[in-house]
Amino acid sequence: MKILVLGGTGEAVILANALASKGHSVITALAGRTKNPARPKGKLISGGFGGADGLADYLRAKKIDYLIDATHPFAVEMSANAVAAAKKSDVPLTRLVGPVFAEPEGANWWRVKDADEAAQRLPNGATAFLTLGRQTLGAFTHRTDVRFLVRSIETPDIELPENFKAIQARPPFSRGDEIGLMKREGITHLVAKDSGSAQTQEKLEAAFMLRIQVIMIERPELEPCSEVGSVAEVLEIFAQLPPPKRRFFFFP
Ligand code: NAP
Repeated sequence: MKILVLGGTGEAVILANALASKGHSVITALAGRTKNPARPKGKLISGGFGGADGLADYLRAKKIDYLIDATHPFAVEMSANAVAAAKKSDVPLTRLVGPVFAEPEGANWWRVKDADEAAQRLPNGATAFLTLGRQTLGAFTHRTDVRFLVRSIETPDIELPENFKAIQARPPFSRGDEIGLMKREGITHLVAKDSGSAQTQEKLEAAFMLRIQVIMIERPELEPCSEVGSVAEVLEIFAQLPPPKRRFFFFP
């Protein structure tokens, strides 16, 4: 089958590789924010479609059989576009989104609705670890009384205030890596998005072991569509689907 994966997450790379190794023709689409992204098997396109109509045109023009939204659960606009485009072009859509994080017993996470509220909750003198993406950092820059550690794949393209320390590193990070980093940097608070990703899970476990306060930004509401929680469940869908009609080429 010809499958378009809307990517930008570690799970999307794992999924594209798994689908390609099962013989599917996979195209992964990225927004194009990272200059040197991880390259999954199959084709990689970058830079957006020009809204829901643009995506619907792409699905038709490239004769895509199936669309998978494997974007981050905070990529609200792309997910809404995927739902609208799938309806318009009559292409089946499934969203891959991990379950919300479960709070370990005794952890006492602070749950907040957005980055602004997370910034507000940080106490004076805290040392906070942020792994939120460049666009979200602006919500914290007014907190000159807090020290921040910011980790991203590429150097942030905004000028960060003096109380921000930026480090560049590419995932995956093991729980051991995260414990080492948080200890070295004297982290007191971890601000995380409820992404459901395996990557963040390692960080949360490290924070729990070090008794670091977690401030969890809750997921935004997404446009409803069919959802699965793991790469294995996506593969199961394709194992059960018949091949698309136009690809039958058996001779009588
Ligand atoms: P967004 O606000 O939902 O999307 C903004 C626009 O970026 C979309 O309308 C689309 O442009 C383009 N776009 C987004 N994802 C795309 C994809 N996979 N393929 C092609 N175009 C895409 O997205 P965002 O929150 O800025 O996130 C951008 C990317 O970073 C996503 O792919 C997401 O998976 C990844 N990411 C996001 C976060 C986060 O916290 N938001 C965290 C980790 C990774 P057009 O309208 O022109 O098609």
